[in-house]
Amino acid sequence: MTAPLIDPFQRAITYLRVSVTDRCDFRCVYCMSENMTFLPKKELLTLEELDRMCSTFVRLGVEKLRITGGEPLVRRDIMTFFNSMGRHLESGALKELTLTTNGSQLERFATDLYAAGVRRVNISLDTLDEQKFADITRWGRLPQVLRGVDAALAAGLKVKINAVALKGFNEDELPTITQWCAERGMDLTWIEVMPMGDIGNEDRLGQYWSLKEVEAAYANHFSVTQLDERTGGPARYVRLEETGQKIGFITPLSHNFCESCNRVRVTCTGEIYMCLGQEDMADLRAPLRSSESDGPLEDAIRAAINLKPKGHDFDYSRQRLDGQMPRHMSHTGG
Ligand code: SAM
Ligand code: SF4
Repeated sequence: MTAPLIDPFQRAITYLRVSVTDRCDFRCVYCMSENMTFLPKKELLTLEELDRMCSTFVRLGVEKLRITGGEPLVRRDIMTFFNSMGRHLESGALKELTLTTNGSQLERFATDLYAAGVRRVNISLDTLDEQKFADITRWGRLPQVLRGVDAALAAGLKVKINAVALKGFNEDELPTITQWCAERGMDLTWIEVMPMGDIGNEDRLGQYWSLKEVEAAYANHFSVTQLDERTGGPARYVRLEETGQKIGFITPLSHNFCESCNRVRVTCTGEIYMCLGQEDMADLRAPLRSSESDGPLEDAIRAAINLKPKGHDFDYSRQRLDGQMPRHMSHTGG
């Protein structure tokens, strides 16, 4: 038996989030600058290397794998990777294979994803207004994403919508977005905007909208029941009695969830980030490429997990909203 991954604070690492590309077909204002410089191809893990990496984590006890980016579905031949990961679902070693996507390519890939064993997807969507959508994503087109949502549902995928909460931007859409999700049997999670990366000089389209305020806004429109459910991550949930929907709130900056953290992140270049809010990272690409055996990679993963910090250092009261974390969200995939 291979020993599972347990960090120095006795947290078992069972959830891996992997970014498979830094590229994206959108340029969301809170995530990227308009003129992004992307990594040269040789820096990226190949699909075979991603497979070895993820398979090694699965052997070490990872049960849930989330594929993200950048936009994961713009990576060339990404379905080869999903299809290949399906073998770990079949063996039972992996309990869930999932992805976070902007939805732009789902019309093309939803059926294939289901066939590969994916059962749930998170689709990021901040507004249902076509012009606002074009403004916030810069390059995105709403109808294409809505077709992607429909395709995902039609393929049998359970869909959760993720919306970044932006004051003065989608504040007024809370009831409409919620109702739209309810009509399609979709849960909805609001994400507090995080200060990550240099996103260029443009004014932000929206401002920080505290999820405490979002939650209070729900109480004005619905009967809200608090749920105890935790996933080891920064989300907490309520249920809306009128619709039966689960509404999530991800407040990484103002909520302390670190003691139950069960996850690590790997970037598309094979850097492992032990905590979203810390710069601590280790390179897994060199050990991966150093040998055909997975031994050096496994040693490097264990060494990294041994360095997982106790918690993050975000502190809203002391910090500016921008530029606190030098890396972009698209680098670690959120
Ligand atoms: N492209 C895919 C997508 O948009 O779903 C996957 C990658 S994206 C980086 C993952 C999530 O991070 C998205 O839900 C996005 O809205 C969120 N995100 C990006 N930048 C953020 C920021 N500065 N603060 C909070 N959430 C952010
Ligand atoms: Fe692309 Fe997702 Fe970042 Fe938007 S949030 S720019 S869709 S990676």
